[in-house]
Amino acid sequence: MRRWNGWGDEAVSFPLSEEAYGFISEKIGKATPVPDATLDEVLAKVPESRLPEHSLVITAPEERLRHARGQSFPDWLALRSGNVGVFPDGVSYPVSGQEVRILLDYARQAKAVVIPYGGGTSVVGHITPERNPNPVLTIDTGRMNHLLNLDKESQVATFGAGADGPSVEAQLRAHGYTLGHFPQSFEFSRLGGWIATRSSGQQSLRYGRIERLFAGGRLETPEGTLDIPDFPASSTGPDLREMVLGSEGRIGVLTEVKMRVTPLPEKEKFHVLFFPGWQAAVDAVRKVVQGLISLSMLRLSNPVETQTQLALAGHERLVSLLEKVLAWRGAGVGKCMLTFGVTGNRKQYRTSKKQALRVFKRAGGIYAGSYMGRKWAEKRFFVPYLRNSLWERGYAVDTLETAANWQNVGQIVGIIESALEGALSRESERVHVFSHLSHLYPQGSSIYTTYLFRIGDTFEKTFERWKRLKTAASEAIVANGGTISHHHGVGVDHASYLIGEKGKLGIAAIKALCRQFDPDGIMNPGKLVR
Ligand SMILES: Cc1cc2nc3c(=O)[nH]c(=O)nc-3n(C[C@H](O)[C@H](O)[C@H](O)COP(=O)(O)OP(=O)(O)OC[C@H]3O[C@@H](n4cnc5c(N)ncnc54)[C@H](O)[C@@H]3O)c2cc1C
Repeated sequence: MRRWNGWGDEAVSFPLSEEAYGFISEKIGKATPVPDATLDEVLAKVPESRLPEHSLVITAPEERLRHARGQSFPDWLALRSGNVGVFPDGVSYPVSGQEVRILLDYARQAKAVVIPYGGGTSVVGHITPERNPNPVLTIDTGRMNHLLNLDKESQVATFGAGADGPSVEAQLRAHGYTLGHFPQSFEFSRLGGWIATRSSGQQSLRYGRIERLFAGGRLETPEGTLDIPDFPASSTGPDLREMVLGSEGRIGVLTEVKMRVTPLPEKEKFHVLFFPGWQAAVDAVRKVVQGLISLSMLRLSNPVETQTQLALAGHERLVSLLEKVLAWRGAGVGKCMLTFGVTGNRKQYRTSKKQALRVFKRAGGIYAGSYMGRKWAEKRFFVPYLRNSLWERGYAVDTLETAANWQNVGQIVGIIESALEGALSRESERVHVFSHLSHLYPQGSSIYTTYLFRIGDTFEKTFERWKRLKTAASEAIVANGGTISHHHGVGVDHASYLIGEKGKLGIAAIKALCRQFDPDGIMNPGKLVR
């Protein structure tokens, strides 16, 4: 069963060693946890539903609580403190587009607002109901999760939009295919959510972002059904797919999606390499991407992330031996770890690995084999469970991400990190900050930054700390040529920064698009644009 107030499955945990806590407390100080609200305490706060009865709508308090919040930091604090505020008035699990239509008509009659719900993994407040005089209906897409058709000749798979990562891959693998979309939230996030937030999977270098994988589909909107054809390409004016990508539940509910799939690769391995310093490493990965060398993943950790990953790995003696060897070979303090994936048929695999290693070694890279890469792949969807373990010891962790042209990448990493490091200096609190580059493009790269800080002695204080951190980093991103989000989307937390990217006319155009499909403004109000 899913945790109601944290990340992941209740049966899974990712404990940290005492050495790892020692490392963190040395960086930012010892911490004291505060007690969380219990499930019963929060359930007692769920008010009467304001929705009229309907056979497709569940109004039980626990169902409503479990759909009340996503995974953003404010969501996390709301659940942990028990101050959830607004709950949906009802939750529905339609099994088809027809049932979604029935629900949209019901919502219109009941003057309810509608929140389309994927896996609830949003980290920017996408599925959090706003305080609203009208009732709130959350439409959980999880029962529309089947592979409906697989056209092997065209390599297009039709799915119910509520299929989550494991279910998409299992259904395709049974036929020898893969979608290749592996966000870190893979365990729970779903096709419809990926499309509605413009998600990017860890192997986007090979398979592309969700934009490239989404070929077409069906959207139920308050104004009717929108069918989006799945041509391989077309020059017939603006592309309807682009209106749905990133629409964040504002124009309708995706019920069926056509996805571009590929046969399972013959061979795939992840490798690790260390560079003596950051700038040479950044230049090397840029050369590999601009040279169109065919890798499936690149993740370049900066020196602090490298040090942190090694400290948290939990194999103190092994890591110490590795560090001695690396230092002897020239990669000591300031070293940067690169994890890279090679995927394809055997010949492509050999050629790509050889080409990439040639570039990396010329830049001073020291190849460390595929053992650590294998470990990374085994744990890649479990790392988020650390958030639970850290919280229980009094530490908060959050992440943010942007993308910038290569010309800006180097400096923007430094600017974001300094903004975060200094954000709590007024109260003499230290912040542990580190970054990596992933999702690399010939034009530039995404930058993914993690920050750890101590929770305050009240939930309000912790929220204040987070707010200051988030604001400082977001302002630094916007002022220095980065996008406010590379793959987490806009939701609530990024909405006020959108004007800087889209401009007044752009925002007006997005609002007009929403109005076209949803004239009464019932679809997920308050998200993306206000
Ligand atoms: C631990 C963790 C790791 C993450 N890693 C990544 C990552 O590697 N890459 C990445 O891109 N993101 C990542 N995210 C963010 C999040 O997983 C993505 O934004 C994801 O795409 C959300 O999908 P979901 O199904 O959970 O959607 P939800 O959170 O349920 O909804 C997100 C938005 O999509 C809309 N929506 C959902 N389904 C539909 C539908 N069928 N029709 C219309 N609108 C719909 C909702 O209304 C909402 O506005 C991560 C989040 C967490 C918590």
